[in-house]
Amino acid sequence: MSDFNIKTTLDELCRQYGPSGYEQEVADYCRPFLESSCDKVWRDEVGNLIGFVDGESDDPQDSVRIFAHMDEIALMVKRIEKDGLIRVDPLGGIYPNLIGVGPVEILGRHERQMGILGAGSVHVSENSSTAYDIQHSMGNKAMTWSDTHVFTGLSREALYRKGIRAGTRIVIARHRRTLTDLGDFWAGYFFDNRAAIATLLALARQLKDRNQRPFPDLYIVLTAEEEVGAHGAKFAARNVPAALTLGLDVGPAEEEYSIDFTPSPILVYRDEEALYDRQVADHFLDVAERIGMHVQTAALSSYRSDVSHAKSSGRSPFSGLICIPTKNTHSYEIIHRSAIPNTVRILSEFLLEDTHSLLQQFCPPPTPYVE
Ligand SMILES: [Zn+2]
Repeated sequence: MSDFNIKTTLDELCRQYGPSGYEQEVADYCRPFLESSCDKVWRDEVGNLIGFVDGESDDPQDSVRIFAHMDEIALMVKRIEKDGLIRVDPLGGIYPNLIGVGPVEILGRHERQMGILGAGSVHVSENSSTAYDIQHSMGNKAMTWSDTHVFTGLSREALYRKGIRAGTRIVIARHRRTLTDLGDFWAGYFFDNRAAIATLLALARQLKDRNQRPFPDLYIVLTAEEEVGAHGAKFAARNVPAALTLGLDVGPAEEEYSIDFTPSPILVYRDEEALYDRQVADHFLDVAERIGMHVQTAALSSYRSDVSHAKSSGRSPFSGLICIPTKNTHSYEIIHRSAIPNTVRILSEFLLEDTHSLLQQFCPPPTPYVE
């Protein structure tokens, strides 16, 4: 793919800050990629970044939208103590034991500020606090966010002056976000869901470079606020017309689901929130068989996606989800280096085939509501 490098793109994507509701950096990074490979690119009212590629088919029913979320798990200031220590709440499914202590950046309204997320010292007796409790509870007490704080060395008043107050977002600092190359595997923070975004950027670029048009109209929807209830996806599912909704996300490579930690994409049949449509997953199994690609299937619990949220709220009648097998989800995540190229391949095969008879089974795409 000409000048497009998946590893570099993924690495750079992961360095962009994107706490839910604050996805500007990620969107700014992605926009030029979409502009160079889509027919039209825009950002909608809730912050989704959308790239449209006009398909070969003239039937508006032949249309597909693919969702991948831009946001990442993060923290939010709950309050600032008199001594300037910042107390936090989670923003999405983030856990202190998985993220660990270390540098964070506080995205103040006027100014950004570095801080250190911590939970006190371990060299303490029962006269002290949290760290002692956690050490001496024989593993029965997991650290919670109320045990932690962010130290900045600044007073509460100085933090207020920077526009840092209850509601301010806090993210893992940029210099902790580097990708680690293990040869066959890559690891890093926020592969959920930058790995999926890298996949869609690579897909769009590949279509462009090879001068290929998808058969259906294609909407690449990079969504906002997935980690806190998929607000962006629900909004896009109501407004962006398409007969079929696909989601792209990371999936837990765990024995519980018989998902192997390989580069084989996962076709999902259900999660905690909704059923994905059997015809859609089955169709992708056929595509995989045709091109001789090994894929996996899964029935997930303790998992939700943009698409299952959109479906369960009645905005996405026909849906499928493809996942990239991932270890350490919602922590320092690991994927196989060939997982993204494989996912690009199966998606492009699907998009290039004549899916008219498949898409006709689904209900007509929504038209904008006009009084
Ligand atoms: Zn995700």
